[in-house]
Amino acid sequence: MNFMNIPAIRNQQQALIKRNFNEILTHEQAHKRAGGALAGAIVIERNAQGIPVGGHVSIKMPTLNPKNPQHTIDNANTVINSAMAPSDPSKQDYRVAAQAKTVKRQAINLQNKQKRIDYYA
Ligand SMILES: [Zn+2]
Repeated sequence: MNFMNIPAIRNQQQALIKRNFNEILTHEQAHKRAGGALAGAIVIERNAQGIPVGGHVSIKMPTLNPKNPQHTIDNANTVINSAMAPSDPSKQDYRVAAQAKTVKRQAINLQNKQKRIDYYA
């Protein structure tokens, strides 16, 4: 038995916990800051050993608002900025940004169509 190793392992684990936690928190804080009112609370996920392994911030994905496409565009831009805010976006972050870009494109198309209708009115 070697009792001397136990505190060393514990310190290593504490260091790992701290490093992971800080990395994850920095990433999620970037999402939250850029997401403003559309972003939810930061959630840090831990494994069975209590080591932080991931995190997330929920974001409100805009839906196409035919009465106010500009509002949809503004919200989509916020979601895109929020998804791409961390220096290390994840695959899921890219997916969220792509989804928001699709909604934004639909809103721009609708806005252009509405403008054309206005010209003929
Ligand atoms: Zn992320």
